[in-house]
Amino acid sequence: MSYVITDACISCGACEPECPVDVISAGDTIYVIDEDGCIECGACANVCPVDAPIPQ
Ligand code: SF4
Ligand code: SF4
Repeated sequence: MSYVITDACISCGACEPECPVDVISAGDTIYVIDEDGCIECGACANVCPVDAPIPQ
């Protein structure tokens, strides 16, 4: 299980430094989460202005 970033992402970058395991990076159009490393802490969702990261 992992959080994923939906198309709602506006690529603001706020989530990237908040991830304790550094699995968020800028993708081609939106930010992306390496699902293999995500520990589902929810920190990315807490700082996202558009609620793009969601648990999956
Ligand atoms: Fe990183 Fe936590 Fe978001 Fe997973 S839920 S991507 S571990 S900040
Ligand atoms: Fe995208 Fe939200 Fe992360 Fe900003 S905080 S880059 S809008 S997922």
